[in-house]
Amino acid sequence: MTATSSGTLERILLSPPDVGDREEQLVVEALRSGWIAPLGPMVDAFEEGVAARCGRTHAVALSSGTAALHLGLLELGAGPGTVVIVPTMTFAATANAVVYTGAEPVFVDCEGTTGNLDPGLLERCLGRLRAEGVTVAAVVPVDLLGRCADYTSLLAICERFEVPVLADAAESVGSWHAERPAGSFGRMAALSFNGNKIMTTSGGGMLLTDSAVQADRIRYLSSQARQPAEHYEHTEVGYNYRLSNLLAAVGLGQLERLDSMIGRRRAVRERYVECFAGLPGVRVFQRDGDEADNCWLTSVLVDEARAGWSAGELRRALAEADIESRPLWKPMHLQPLHAGARTWLSGASEGLFATGVTLPSGSALRPEEVDRVIGTVTDFVRGGR
Ligand SMILES: *Cc1c(COP(=O)(O)O)cnc(C)c1O
Repeated sequence: MTATSSGTLERILLSPPDVGDREEQLVVEALRSGWIAPLGPMVDAFEEGVAARCGRTHAVALSSGTAALHLGLLELGAGPGTVVIVPTMTFAATANAVVYTGAEPVFVDCEGTTGNLDPGLLERCLGRLRAEGVTVAAVVPVDLLGRCADYTSLLAICERFEVPVLADAAESVGSWHAERPAGSFGRMAALSFNGNKIMTTSGGGMLLTDSAVQADRIRYLSSQARQPAEHYEHTEVGYNYRLSNLLAAVGLGQLERLDSMIGRRRAVRERYVECFAGLPGVRVFQRDGDEADNCWLTSVLVDEARAGWSAGELRRALAEADIESRPLWKPMHLQPLHAGARTWLSGASEGLFATGVTLPSGSALRPEEVDRVIGTVTDFVRGGR
């Protein structure tokens, strides 16, 4: 175990950034090159590298995943008088980006097994909205905790209804579905390089597309929508959403290390799987079919009646040992912000919210830290609680 100088154990975080010598080297290189901000060769190389990794022809590096969602939605025509379908089981940013455009978010429930947008419910929702004559600007599936949504089903449904898909792949960089990489699905995909994500630029995001025209539009909108005139002519609202060259340098280093970081997260998950095996009423969330997942975060689901303890009790025991844990995302339809929004619900997201505990999952976790988490869980389960 590691101890701070005062002798107390260090807090174990859920998913802290994992950066090292390579990132430092690239940032120094960027600084010394004189390309400080905003754009520069590191941005170009980062865009190229991520596009190749995600099976896309174009990528635009942006200041956040939220910015990527916002611009993607604007490009698809989301705005006042339109609706955008969002899974209720997601982080707030997915729905916030819809609200920025003036469109109305409609929340659809998830599958209980994966936590991802339920294709059957989506189909019913789209059918009903079409019957009402509602304009659906986009469907935004989310790849929850790194598991790709069921794009095989979702894209077929959306194609039938002629509604474009903007994939929120903020959590799934490096994952696969049906032998295609995360970020390659739908008309466009948004990535996040926030500090807690599988790879980070400290803060950043990217919008992926296969259309050169669309990529040019996104570049233009994200850099203040300046017309090519010396006096800065403007005909529409622009945004200051580009990623800086210095941060792209961090991203380039992270991209080189992505596979090894995924491997380390997977190894952490395997330890949890071992630890919880044989415990009645507890299972590792998204375990089935996780071979192609990036294992961004590992959660367990607790059936209180069978386990004899609740998700909340486990979280308290971890907190007392100074170990960070979290429930799964609180569904959007339960958020005061979205009270009154239209919903298609099955109860699955509320079930996951009530029973899920997300455990420390970072690639920088040291083996002794994982041991400490497992020891705390084991003591708790044995009745030390
Ligand atoms: C992190 C995240 C975002 C937002 O990304 P930022 O880079 O933090 O703006 C959007 N959607 C999901 C599902 C996320 O997890």
